[in-house]
Amino acid sequence: MDIIANDSSQNIETKHTTCAYCGVGCGIEAQVNHATREVKIEGLINHPANQGRLCSKGSALGHTVGLNERLLEPHVNHQATSWDHALDTVAQGFNKIIKEHGPDAVAFYVSGQLLTEDYYVANKLMKGFIGSANIDTNSRLCMSSSVVGHKRAFGLDTVPGCYDDFEKAELITLVGSNTAWCHPVLFQRIKAYKEANPNVKVVVIDPRRTQTCDIADLHLHLNLGTDVWLFNGLLHSLNQQNKINQDYVQQYCDGLDEALAQAEKSSGNLSTLAEQLGVNLDDLKLFYNWFCETEKSVTLYSQGVNQSTSGTDKVNSILNCHLATGRIGKAGMGPFSMTGQPNAMGGREVGGLANTLACHMDFVPDSIDRVKRFWDAPNMAQENGLMAVDLFDAIDAGKVKAVWIMATNPVVSLPNADKVKRALEKCELVVVSDNIADTDTTRLAHVKLPAAPWSEKDGTVTNSERRISRQRALLPLTGNTKPDWWIINEVAKRMGFTHGFNHETQADIFKEYAALSGFENTPEHRLRDFDISALANISQEEYDHFQPTQWPLNQAHPNGKARFFADGGFFTANGKGKILAIEPKLPKNPINDAFPLQLNTGRIRDQWHTMTRTALAPQLNQHISEPFVEMHPQTARAYDLKEHQLVQVSSLWGSMMGRLIISDASKPNTLFAPMHWSAALSKTGRINTVVNPEVDPFSKQPESKHTPVNVKGYAGNWYGFILSRADLTWPDADYVVHAKGEQHNRLELAHNEPLHHPIQAMLAWLGYNDETQLAENQLELLSYEDTASETYRIAIMDQHGKLQAVAMVAPTQALPERTWLAMQFSKDALDDRSRQALLSGFAPAGEDIGRIVCACFSVGEKTIAKAAKGGCKNAAEIGAQLKAGTNCGSCVPEIKGIIAQHR
Ligand code: SF4
Repeated sequence: MDIIANDSSQNIETKHTTCAYCGVGCGIEAQVNHATREVKIEGLINHPANQGRLCSKGSALGHTVGLNERLLEPHVNHQATSWDHALDTVAQGFNKIIKEHGPDAVAFYVSGQLLTEDYYVANKLMKGFIGSANIDTNSRLCMSSSVVGHKRAFGLDTVPGCYDDFEKAELITLVGSNTAWCHPVLFQRIKAYKEANPNVKVVVIDPRRTQTCDIADLHLHLNLGTDVWLFNGLLHSLNQQNKINQDYVQQYCDGLDEALAQAEKSSGNLSTLAEQLGVNLDDLKLFYNWFCETEKSVTLYSQGVNQSTSGTDKVNSILNCHLATGRIGKAGMGPFSMTGQPNAMGGREVGGLANTLACHMDFVPDSIDRVKRFWDAPNMAQENGLMAVDLFDAIDAGKVKAVWIMATNPVVSLPNADKVKRALEKCELVVVSDNIADTDTTRLAHVKLPAAPWSEKDGTVTNSERRISRQRALLPLTGNTKPDWWIINEVAKRMGFTHGFNHETQADIFKEYAALSGFENTPEHRLRDFDISALANISQEEYDHFQPTQWPLNQAHPNGKARFFADGGFFTANGKGKILAIEPKLPKNPINDAFPLQLNTGRIRDQWHTMTRTALAPQLNQHISEPFVEMHPQTARAYDLKEHQLVQVSSLWGSMMGRLIISDASKPNTLFAPMHWSAALSKTGRINTVVNPEVDPFSKQPESKHTPVNVKGYAGNWYGFILSRADLTWPDADYVVHAKGEQHNRLELAHNEPLHHPIQAMLAWLGYNDETQLAENQLELLSYEDTASETYRIAIMDQHGKLQAVAMVAPTQALPERTWLAMQFSKDALDDRSRQALLSGFAPAGEDIGRIVCACFSVGEKTIAKAAKGGCKNAAEIGAQLKAGTNCGSCVPEIKGIIAQHR
């Protein structure tokens, strides 16, 4: 263990680990109190990825280590059971189906949340021993287009650069990436660098004006799905302005002439192009001129590029511009694909995708034979397996009859999500390994396996810049939980595989994996970049103390290598980088009369994926607590919709309900909705039920950024909310959203049936039959009813004056602000002033802070607005006065917006 300090008298340890969430891969210093399970989190100063910074999600990790929501015992058919029984059930179930229907009738669906060691044995079991390649990872949904784009251009999936390049560039272009919210620490690094170097230009290319635009010199607000036209236009401009690096291209690349011809054909006329992109012609020329003139250019791209039916082509259109200029593999230059998850990159390296084999090898005869010999594998898979969307289609069709889902929640995250749910409902054997008991996916499991959570896991992860870091267990395994690698190995042995799965520690697995990366991959006969064979014989102690390092790690590069391809070195058949002719294509499903709006989906600042962990931290539920739909004011007017009303979004595939936010961030007729809400947290908030299941033909990555939809307002008979110290059963209502707050739970409600006897109904929601029962429990009821306006409010206090619950209903959505009410649950007793204000609908003068903007210090919008009116001119002055924005900095763009609005 990398224990930095150990105070045994206090039972306190300080350990170094990595963040559980995004692909930035920040290092964490955690102070663990073993007596109380309290974990204090700080950014690790000497981790190269974050240099001490953390975002709101990383900072709140200590609030997610509680035990209430954890899956702590194995379950078979919803009954807690022993590991023996659960493991036998899985092994026998898989064996039976394989015997009857062959190896392709079973599948694993895994995750970028798995550690590399977990991934390695899962991949080995499926591809080498079961004999199918039906193992795919949820990384399919975030960056598989980049994988294929890299392979088409470079011959292998190698990220050419590193984070330092952002701090050496003179032009930073961020494409399809809300870096400020989705990779906040990298954004903070870019921001600080730009502030110190004002001549550095930042360009944001995004169909939505996001918080990332806060640091942009130029935002190209392009039409959804038009990126290839834009980058073909850039390639054409580079040629026109004689900026092609002829030496580099001649020596190291193929395909330029064809690519230039196609670029001119699709994007040769700038006026037509600007119109097609929906951007101002001068802005377009400015971007092209900046790129043409700036040698030190880095282009970061993310889900906005990848999640498309032409995602792979979009990636290659970006790579083309860097290859054609030779701006790759040198300090401050290069294309840079940001991965979504903490170990998405590790999964790519291991072979967690169904269209890769292992250690950057593919399903080609030499590699299949090589891996077979290394693993001594009895049943090598011979070809690509089913990829995420196809995999769940095959489950739906009954072709795949057993699936083992590890550390992911596909019933929420996959497109056409209701079909995924139906598929699992009829699947013969659904096994789910998770650390959370109740997710949309564990609800459908025949076998639930309690896997170790982030705070109890130990192994390695690789971040977006190829940097391998150790993730270290902060706490011992709780209850009957086990590491994923142990669970997989035990199932393998019980399936009858007597060798290959006898590792005693995660370090044993890592060493085997490191050896495979260098197997027949010698300096004389270099077959692939990914080589960490220098670690194949490390000791347990060296593994425990391993410091973050970029691969490769081999004889030639014992300390890693920051960049690739400055001098060629591609792994294509002729060793040349491929500049590809890319024909632009619009999203697969165009809008039509029935579904005339475009739906774009994405992420919000304080939540991660399907919220199974971030929603456990009350401070992360404050900023945005309900699913929402963002719409341009012009569209809202056309559909007669008002700010904050509930709306239903529907498509050919499904429907959802969210609260309307009117904003000109997206263009008219384009909606945006977050991907996070699940059925476990909201009755109707799953946006992926609406999202079309079309995929990129090369990467099979779904088109999550474009679905034709329609929208209409929801007319409820009543609207309401409950705040309760106790857990709540959901009332019968059309709209229910749950959010965990500080010492309370919150439910937002709406229903289109009349609410009879509202006071009694609200008491029933809180678990009480009548006032007599309250009195028996020494509880006091405060109530307010106005039958004329049909407004009803109650509050319940205990005998010490401590607030237990508040519930309110009304026929309109004009209900009191929840923030102040929620804050009353942190008090041991309410004073008279607060008690009187409870049901009034207004916070006492001076106490209404409004919606929370800064999650780290719980600073509200109204407090910030007041400070701005009082003289604070910028975010720094707000920070000095209120602390808002001074921890992770993720809320600074929003603070600036509030200042602008109120000054
Ligand atoms: S940017 Fe935030 S979520 Fe991403 S790794 Fe760092 S702390 Fe974690």
